[in-house]
Amino acid sequence: MAVFLVFIYMENNVLVWFRNDLRLHDNEALYNAINTKKSVLAVYIFDENQYKNTNLGFLKTGSFRAQFIIESVQNLKENLKSIGVELLVYKGNSVEVITNICNDFNITEIHYQQENTDEEVQVEKNLLKTLHTSVHLKGIWGKTLFHINDIPFTINQLPELFTNFRKKVEAQSEVNKLFSNSVINNKLVFENKTQVPTLDELGLPSTIISPKAAIQFKGGESEALNRLNHYFFETKSLATYKITRNEMLGANYSSKFSAWLALGCISPRFIYHQIKLFESKIEANDSTYWLFFELLWRDYFQFIALKHGNNLFKLNGLNNSKITWNNNKSDFEKWKLGQTGYPLIDANMQELLQTGFMSNRGRQNVASFLTKNLGVNWLWGAKWFESLLIDYDAASNYGNWAYQAGVGNDGRQSRYFNTEKQSLDYDSKGNYVRHWLIGLKTLPGSKALFPYKLSVEEQTRYKFNIHEDYYEPMVDLIY
Ligand SMILES: Cc1cc2nc3c(=O)[nH]c(=O)nc-3n(C[C@H](O)[C@H](O)[C@H](O)COP(=O)(O)OP(=O)(O)OC[C@H]3O[C@@H](n4cnc5c(N)ncnc54)[C@H](O)[C@@H]3O)c2cc1C
Repeated sequence: MAVFLVFIYMENNVLVWFRNDLRLHDNEALYNAINTKKSVLAVYIFDENQYKNTNLGFLKTGSFRAQFIIESVQNLKENLKSIGVELLVYKGNSVEVITNICNDFNITEIHYQQENTDEEVQVEKNLLKTLHTSVHLKGIWGKTLFHINDIPFTINQLPELFTNFRKKVEAQSEVNKLFSNSVINNKLVFENKTQVPTLDELGLPSTIISPKAAIQFKGGESEALNRLNHYFFETKSLATYKITRNEMLGANYSSKFSAWLALGCISPRFIYHQIKLFESKIEANDSTYWLFFELLWRDYFQFIALKHGNNLFKLNGLNNSKITWNNNKSDFEKWKLGQTGYPLIDANMQELLQTGFMSNRGRQNVASFLTKNLGVNWLWGAKWFESLLIDYDAASNYGNWAYQAGVGNDGRQSRYFNTEKQSLDYDSKGNYVRHWLIGLKTLPGSKALFPYKLSVEEQTRYKFNIHEDYYEPMVDLIY
């Protein structure tokens, strides 16, 4: 619970409210606050609404992501201190916490990065209502690579197909320069007794990321910048990104920037300008372009979330679909726990359970399997991802889920992934499924992809029993 410091500050001070922009570099809200030349105070709130159980009985924010947020806030606190800004950290109701800080510290302006998804926007609206005109709320747009005012459409006219969005943006818009870091003149001196909570204090169980994980994610701006340096300049993995990005095993097949991007530990504009630097100093090719292309997908889902508001979180999706969904809890449970009997699906679901991460290839396959093969309520899948993913981002998660489920902005709404073909295309030797499913470890090569096709003799030869070591398929595949 929030404990408030009772100080009376006669001067007018400004507050930076950090949410999903946990960095110093290229941070417009922080930049604007410092440039008021007034004393600057900062706050991060672990909003109690984010740490509750969902109606499906699991946590909205699970321990993997909560731990990453804790690390990111801790890093932000240290980095802000180094420039003379104190970060207050509370757990509670955002509106109440901020209202109290405004009173205690004589705050006249609040600078913050605007959100685009329903729950988060609602917090801003409630804050505005509560503070009324006593404090000026100065929100900026900072979530995307392209600024909202620089794309060639109003949000209401945003194309429903990505390609139409991409072509026009590429032809007509430019990425802005970075905001520079400013220097604080007036330090607000007081004893900051607030501390970053532990998982336990957030009411969450402790957790460790499996040592088998592709990457041991650690939160914070400093780690984000290290990762970019590693991926771009130390290993030059960016130069092969387009070729490797659909793989599922290893640290460098893709950038792994997503978790830091979701919390704003790294700015998409900063990544873009580093791509340009890489292109000028090392190499410009299809791969360097493709990372930019993926950042455009990210932008697209952020703007789509703004356009469609709360519909993004509704069963009928963005196209008011009339699909009838299966609400079978037992089917959902098998999918969640990686017990479907299809190794590609189960290995990916195990990776998610044990690490809080899954590749893009994996996400597309498991989402297609849940929604197209099992016909299970797509919102359940999206909520399970929300609970477990370290890189959860409301717009990207629900946007991609809606797209895969056929209730979003895909022109081909009935398309689905052929699990067997995908297994052969992306894990031809079975290395990925054996990595996550120990029951399959005795099966050589591609035999591990299709254990349900093994004859009795083969099972004996490989010392494998489908009932004891794995599962029978829970459903026939669609071909
Ligand atoms: C069902 C489903 C749910 C998803 N949920 C999320 C989510 O909650 N948070 C999230 O950040 N991404 C989500 N994605 C998108 C994508 O899978 C991840 O961004 C990507 O796998 C993260 O790994 P990376 O950073 O190594 O990606 P890279 O391949 O290195 O891509 C670079 C960056 O581009 C962006 N990006 C790439 N693909 C997409 C995409 N399809 N949609 C939006 N942005 C993209 C991400 O910010 C990513 O970090 C989801 C995809 C699917 C199919």
